[in-house]
Amino acid sequence: MFRANTQSNVDQTMLDLNDAIDQLRSRDESRAHCSFCGKPHTEVNVLVPGPNSVFICDVCVDRATKFIGQRI
Ligand SMILES: [Zn+2]
Repeated sequence: MFRANTQSNVDQTMLDLNDAIDQLRSRDESRAHCSFCGKPHTEVNVLVPGPNSVFICDVCVDRATKFIGQRI
């Protein structure tokens, strides 16, 4: 019985932690902006996530693709 309660407490703690992580993620996503042009996610069609909380928007990807195309 004691074990069941302990496991239940652990399960509840994990649920609480997952909720906290989800809240942090949604907060980060709501502040996400393109690391190249600085536009917020609300002003672009697509925001591609990169490592360490960097993002690039579809317009900057298009510009980068054209830039690379000119140099090849
Ligand atoms: Zn951009």
